[in-house]
Amino acid sequence: MVKAYQDYEFHPILHDVLDFFTVDLSAFYLDVVKDRAYCSAKGSPERRSAQTAMFTILRDSLLLMAPILSFTADEAWAHVPAFEGKDQSVHLGEFPESRDWLGTKRAGFVEDMERLLAVREKVLKGLEKARESKLIGNSLEARVTLKAPAADAAFLEARKDDLAALFIVSQVSIEKDTGEELAIEVGPAAGEKCERCWNWSIDVGRSAEHPTFCARCEKAVKAAKP
Ligand SMILES: [Zn+2]
Repeated sequence: MVKAYQDYEFHPILHDVLDFFTVDLSAFYLDVVKDRAYCSAKGSPERRSAQTAMFTILRDSLLLMAPILSFTADEAWAHVPAFEGKDQSVHLGEFPESRDWLGTKRAGFVEDMERLLAVREKVLKGLEKARESKLIGNSLEARVTLKAPAADAAFLEARKDDLAALFIVSQVSIEKDTGEELAIEVGPAAGEKCERCWNWSIDVGRSAEHPTFCARCEKAVKAAKP
């Protein structure tokens, strides 16, 4: 992007900004982290991590788009929470240093993410079909079963805890299958809908104090009490 500015090539910058905000950020990242940002316990690592990522994305993207979206960037800048070294106007700030975020991750991270996103694509198609046939309404009403060949099953099993959030469904289970390709089965989620986070869980109703909450929400609410 900096190279494009240096060459006075503004059109690809606008294209990249638009693409990043609508596809990567809005349709994927923010959709996936919304649940942990709104509902996880205030100081939980997953919520703090999402907040840090969102803050970094906001600060750096405003600085980068400021030269061509001057008024929009400056108006949004006024709403960025105060941080050490924050300039009064976005136009006084400098471009963020380019950092190789992915280079600091363990080897194979990008390949693993691509593999997970391909699974997500398949799951989204399965959810769409289930919605069309009125089996589910909202995706959180779904339980997804991944019928995976042995090689995929081990890969998915190791990331099991994050799959429901990635697919924005309430439950995910993995079954080893003899087929050659990963197959997706969608059914209604087990349990009841949690009043606070709208995820379905068999834990809803177990707490005497918060009978309409799932276990995660009960913990979060208890942790927030002084
Ligand atoms: Zn909940």
